[in-house]
Amino acid sequence: MEFTNKTALITGSTSGIGLAIAKNFASKGANIVLNGFGDANEIEGIRASISKEYGVKCHYSNANMLEPEQIRKMVSDAINEFGCVDILVNNAGIQHVAPIDEFPEEKFDAIIAINLVSSFHTIKAALPKMKEKGWGRIINIASAHALIASPYKSAYVAAKHGIAGLTKTVALEVAEKGITCNAICPGYVWTPLVQKQIPDTMKARNMTEEQVINTVLLAAQPTKKFVTMEEVAAMAAYFASDSAVSITGTIMPIDGGWTAH
Ligand code: NAD
Repeated sequence: MEFTNKTALITGSTSGIGLAIAKNFASKGANIVLNGFGDANEIEGIRASISKEYGVKCHYSNANMLEPEQIRKMVSDAINEFGCVDILVNNAGIQHVAPIDEFPEEKFDAIIAINLVSSFHTIKAALPKMKEKGWGRIINIASAHALIASPYKSAYVAAKHGIAGLTKTVALEVAEKGITCNAICPGYVWTPLVQKQIPDTMKARNMTEEQVINTVLLAAQPTKKFVTMEEVAAMAAYFASDSAVSITGTIMPIDGGWTAH
């Protein structure tokens, strides 16, 4: 299989996009390191079912992406176990929405730390072994907000624009080493996070589910359809493939035309 004998570490992969990427890569034979928060029993269930369904090794790290020491340990444990993190997917992310003059300082710092700085630490820790092997894939899950802004999302937009810059810089530094670094920029993705917002918004705005989806959530997305987690995972799998060896330093939208505006 395509990723047999390769190991993929995906931050924030206990739910949503990260979990879809983990399943896609496992289905192609990669050993997986899961990471993220959640109920311990549920996470163990996810870990065991990936391992069983796809016949791969699947480990879990509870490293907090706010803590550089824990991030370094997560990567070094993966290297000790599997020899290398061949495919690194920086996906963990949080959001907070507020006007900048009311934005809580600790929320701003946490968004920058989790959505941007943690990727510096994972990349720094994983790169030496990739260089030694002469093969590596770094995939950063950014956002349409790496390319455009929306009001009240100052921390998120700053972090996602930052990850675009980090992506390009790393791509240039490792271009001759068989390692690529790309960013994927989803528009609205149908994840549990987004699904959970709908009932409250229906109540608050006295709207039907369809009205919430089209006039609130998807107002800026020309297709008026959510991107699916599986579509994002398929794009990540392509970036990780040998066919994508010449694609590096790209900031690639998958946003139903949002950033074409
Ligand atoms: P999600 O909430 O379903 O998943 C986020 C994951 O990150 C979870 O596994 C969570 O446990 C983990 N996480 C959060 N804080 C963490 C921390 N401190 N340490 C370790 N793990 C942590 O969200 P999602 O929608 O799947 O988002 C995944 C990524 O995709 C994020 O970077 C997000 O910005 C990006 N994204 C999402 C959308 C969307 O519409 N859902 C759109 C564009 C970009």
